[in-house]
Amino acid sequence: MSNGNTYKGACFCGAVEFTVTGMPAAMGYCHCESCQSWSAAPVNAFTLWAPDAVRVTNGTERVGNFSKTPKSHRKYCRSCGGHLFTEHPLWGVTDVYAASIPDFPYQPALHVNYQETRLRMRDGLPKMKDMPAEMGGSGVTLPE
Ligand SMILES: [Zn+2]
Ligand SMILES: [Zn+2]
Repeated sequence: MSNGNTYKGACFCGAVEFTVTGMPAAMGYCHCESCQSWSAAPVNAFTLWAPDAVRVTNGTERVGNFSKTPKSHRKYCRSCGGHLFTEHPLWGVTDVYAASIPDFPYQPALHVNYQETRLRMRDGLPKMKDMPAEMGGSGVTLPE
């Protein structure tokens, strides 16, 4: 799946810029309450990358971090408050929000944490109740 393509991302004001290179390990939509609260949106379009595929290329000194739990290190721009990406060290992946890398060809494959949804999406993709079994979840799917 890997290739050398590089895609640019930025915060809301543009002071922080970053790139992602290659292809993510997974893409989909997360409906969990943490994603809703952090993103101020009903659903988070995620792309999960190897941590070394994500590089901050400008404005490093403006990158802030918030960790409500050790599972998630949420990076944001201290100038505009715009969100950048979230590191998940326990899973060994970094979630780059699809909306932050607009040129990347986002192709969602599944929905996770659909039991917490506030926005039903009838797109025919699998709806995981929580997380896939290989990520520590039940692996159970729900109707749309
Ligand atoms: Zn900014
Ligand atoms: Zn979530």
